[in-house]
Amino acid sequence: MVIDRIIGDPKKTKNWEEILKPPFFRYHVATSVEDAIHQLAENPGALILAGGQSLVPAMNFRLASPEMLIDIGKITGLSSILIEGDEVVVGANVRHRDLELSDEVFAELPVLRQALGNVAHVPIRHRGTIVGSICHADAAAEMPMMLTLTGGYVTAVGPEGTRKILAEDFFKFHMTTTRAADEMIVSAHFPITP
Ligand SMILES: Cc1cc2nc3c(=O)[nH]c(=O)nc-3n(C[C@H](O)[C@H](O)[C@H](O)COP(=O)(O)OP(=O)(O)OC[C@H]3O[C@@H](n4cnc5c(N)ncnc54)[C@H](O)[C@@H]3O)c2cc1C
Repeated sequence: MVIDRIIGDPKKTKNWEEILKPPFFRYHVATSVEDAIHQLAENPGALILAGGQSLVPAMNFRLASPEMLIDIGKITGLSSILIEGDEVVVGANVRHRDLELSDEVFAELPVLRQALGNVAHVPIRHRGTIVGSICHADAAAEMPMMLTLTGGYVTAVGPEGTRKILAEDFFKFHMTTTRAADEMIVSAHFPITP
């Protein structure tokens, strides 16, 4: 039956790779930043899953085949947008749309809202994260450009501790950053510029 070929019948299907869109992967829901970092260190080939708006299409096209996904969506404390001194501090679970709609941020750094209005369309901005976009490091994407333009930085946490990485040191090449494989980015910092 056609339906079997689409959803797969375990009794009839010998090769799941032929019917699944993405390659096989294991899935872990991280409970804390420490848990996510531990999983990254223990599972070479694992990747963080944030909004999934870049990673999942890449997997469906088989351009990426992480052995394991570490979902950070349930980690508490990563969803805040703060104005701290002369910086806008954006946690790893903050969605594009949250930052775009923040009137407090717009009052301090209006260029962020202007840039965010050009990111994909609203449903994608509801799922995709600011930090995920920065980690993905697409050379045509708005948020890597904004981090560079404002002279911002990210905060990385790994087994060796926490480090601050300036935008100019973070982006190496299109879709390539200096983040170590066992590091997670917990926040992005945009200096408030005149
Ligand atoms: C149809 C479509 C149109 C789009 N158009 C645009 C556009 O015009 N402009 C634009 O800028 N973007 C665009 N995007 C991309 C979108 O903005 C994505 O949301 C964003 O690039 C990635 O964010 P995410 O949270 O979905 O990350 P994910 O897809 O979950 O992850 C992306 C990558 O970053 C890594 N990662 C994520 N979070 C962390 C973290 N905290 N620490 C370490 N690594 C991490 C993942 O492992 C993965 O490698 C588009 C996407 C789609 C599907």
